[in-house]
Amino acid sequence: MSPSLPLRRPHVTAVRRITPRTVRVTLGGPSLDGFVLAGPDQQVKLFFPRPGQAEPVLPVPGPDGDTMRWYAAYAALPEAERPWMRSYTLRAHDPAAGTVDVDFFLHGGEGDGGDEGPATRWARTARPGDVLGMFGPSEEFAVPVDPGAGDWTLLYADACAFPALATVVAALPPGRRAVAYVQVPDAAEEQPLPTPGDLAVRFLRDGDSPVDAVRAGDLPEGRPYAWLAGEASAVRGLRRHLVEERGLDRRSVHFTGYWRRRLAQDDAPTPEDLAEAKERLAGG
Ligand SMILES: Cc1cc2nc3c(=O)[nH]c(=O)nc-3n(C[C@H](O)[C@H](O)[C@H](O)COP(=O)(O)OP(=O)(O)OC[C@H]3O[C@@H](n4cnc5c(N)ncnc54)[C@H](O)[C@@H]3O)c2cc1C
Repeated sequence: MSPSLPLRRPHVTAVRRITPRTVRVTLGGPSLDGFVLAGPDQQVKLFFPRPGQAEPVLPVPGPDGDTMRWYAAYAALPEAERPWMRSYTLRAHDPAAGTVDVDFFLHGGEGDGGDEGPATRWARTARPGDVLGMFGPSEEFAVPVDPGAGDWTLLYADACAFPALATVVAALPPGRRAVAYVQVPDAAEEQPLPTPGDLAVRFLRDGDSPVDAVRAGDLPEGRPYAWLAGEASAVRGLRRHLVEERGLDRRSVHFTGYWRRRLAQDDAPTPEDLAEAKERLAGG
């Protein structure tokens, strides 16, 4: 149990479109004083206000810093008041300015059938001064990433996992061989991936099969460490391919489903989600 909850109320200090469908939101304010970013792939829970609220309503943490008690108080808020909670990645931290950046991929545009969700809706219209709740990063929930493990690094990310991927490749050891499969809707979403590693990037489009791409890919020799993040069934399929067909040790495949087709993040887990969670708890 942590002595105090990593709960903050930052406000937006800047908003910038970095691609046609990605908004970079810079968050700052006194609640980020003394903040330290511990490494790559740092995830947070963001809390978004309900319609009519200027700020999200959040329970006050108790003096013992008990996460579960705080979470129970959050879940007990009346639904009309309870802020939406979604997972995001800290893309960057500027200690001098006391700010962090979060990149929001704007899904649910015209081509996606307009099914955008509250986090995306918020990001589309975010303005300096807007206030969010932010829980984390927290060691209690993080799965450590080790991009230098194994002989080389295999990476997969879709558009909403691109911010996390960018932090992972930035943490590759110098000269480390790595291959990244990056699935984005179109060429305009292909952002650069600065890294000290020896990285080959292979772009896929929505609708392509990541398993087929990896199967057909010319990959380096040796045992890879894999980091996979994106739509849950795509990530599961790739992991299955790596473990069952290529014989990779389960423990060297770090995988996270970032979203589920036709389901919002707060919808109940599917049987596949539960099976995956059980495997994770069993240590991969
Ligand atoms: C650990 C972690 C880190 C993440 N980091 C980031 C990040 O840095 N940037 C980022 O943009 N996203 C990130 N995500 C993904 C993000 O949390 C989800 O996309 C989330 O569902 C968005 O919330 P929403 O309110 O917009 O949509 P929801 O209300 O959750 O969903 C509404 C509808 O949109 C669909 N949908 C949700 N996400 C997507 C998507 N990406 N593409 C297409 N359709 C979608 C759902 O299937 C549903 O039908 C992360 C997820 C996790 C688990």
